[in-house]
Amino acid sequence: MKYISTRGGMDPAPYSETLLEGLAPDGGLAVPERLPSVDAAQLEAWRGLDYPALATEVLGLFATDIPRDELARMCRAAYSHENFVADAIVPLTAIDGGLTLVGLSEGPTLAFKDMAMQFLGQALEYALARRGDTLSILGATSGDTGSAAEYALRGKDGITVYMLSPQGRMSAFQRAQMYSLTDENIHNIAIAGVFDDCQNLVKELSGDLGFKRAHRLGTVNSINLGRITAQVVYYFWAWLRASDEIAEVDRGRFQVSFAVPSGNFGNILSGHFARRMGLPIRRLVLAANENNVLDDFFRTGIYRPRSAADTHATSSPSMDISKASNLERFVYDLVGGDPERLAALWRELDTRDEGAAGFFDLSAELPRFASEFGLVSGTSTHTDRVATIRAVHEATGVTIDPHTADGVKVAREWVEPGVPMLVLETAKPAKFPEIVREATGEEPAMPAHLAGLLELPQHVTEMADDAARLRAYIERVSG
Ligand SMILES: *Cc1c(COP(=O)(O)O)cnc(C)c1O
Repeated sequence: MKYISTRGGMDPAPYSETLLEGLAPDGGLAVPERLPSVDAAQLEAWRGLDYPALATEVLGLFATDIPRDELARMCRAAYSHENFVADAIVPLTAIDGGLTLVGLSEGPTLAFKDMAMQFLGQALEYALARRGDTLSILGATSGDTGSAAEYALRGKDGITVYMLSPQGRMSAFQRAQMYSLTDENIHNIAIAGVFDDCQNLVKELSGDLGFKRAHRLGTVNSINLGRITAQVVYYFWAWLRASDEIAEVDRGRFQVSFAVPSGNFGNILSGHFARRMGLPIRRLVLAANENNVLDDFFRTGIYRPRSAADTHATSSPSMDISKASNLERFVYDLVGGDPERLAALWRELDTRDEGAAGFFDLSAELPRFASEFGLVSGTSTHTDRVATIRAVHEATGVTIDPHTADGVKVAREWVEPGVPMLVLETAKPAKFPEIVREATGEEPAMPAHLAGLLELPQHVTEMADDAARLRAYIERVSG
């Protein structure tokens, strides 16, 4: 299996090489030359596997350049009970209205990004060792992605992490989670500024190609193909668990729908891959918050990214995006894998960037979004989140987080009789105490294994918003 660029300008590359790159050299994203396919007999053969074994099978279809025993070892290490507290790793929990939650937040940072990042940490360490290379991850975080990356990369050979965060702007929980790490390869740097200042520093240093090469700077952001493929696994897992109770003769026709709280279109893109591989998925329901560029796209066929200034700060903050970086991979399929047409669409976004906002119009293809790809969408607001957290709590005693609430709210609009609706639970409520208190009047419980986290000593370097100082810091550490 080889990987090519959505824009056509990259020689086919093996899986482990795409992990070390960000964008393809032509500005596009890596996609499989052809998606693998899985039939009903194969699905049945996988039914008895535990999560790491299933991950080995599914990822083995993508990572064909990694020996199977190595891949199995990595999946066991990533999806271990040290990292994930639930016995099943990914538990399914029925709630009211015929919905089922798919628990993706059992990992060290209580959010679904751990699912992909833990595997990527293993895969990067392996790919670097094979090349005899090292990597420095330079990232900016407002909380969630940075902590998932640090927990996945702590103690990994050949990898150093420099994570910039805005000083005084993260929650007490997020600070405790990141700054309490004591691993020597993890460097937390609190910048006197806001998140955009952190991101600009990353851009400035990564844009200096000499510096970038000398210090082997890279990223593990949401376009990373390793993350997308690792996320495909839990769609298979959820379908298998939802169909465990179905009589064997009926399983071939057994379809489920998934509702996915979405931001950068990474999580739901993995569902799109699973569906194209042959997993019986009826609908993929995209849930957006007030930053609903994607809901607009899936209702109108017009994609109009917004500027950072037009992005609202909401109570489901991990979905506050103005540009969905993974959408390009879906549009690539929509245009039949035609790299020229794809590149022309993205040129429309870029050329209009001066002054008027760029957009492209695929409304002529709109009927195919649902009929061919099963993709539908909806929007949820703060009022909806509060009402949904409260309603689920009252009906079932289960407390959900605000992102999962966006998923539940939109899922309810698309439920069909006889088709189970599986809602991806993307975070635990303990991370978002304010809105949970507003909805239920109760403080969300801190998971037992994190008791005492807030009291641990914290290690962070405070720094002015100054690229020269950051450069000097990295030079001192990496030599
Ligand atoms: C990152 C994140 C999302 C959005 O996922 P995408 O892959 O960017 O669409 C939703 N919920 C939570 C809690 C997240 O951390």
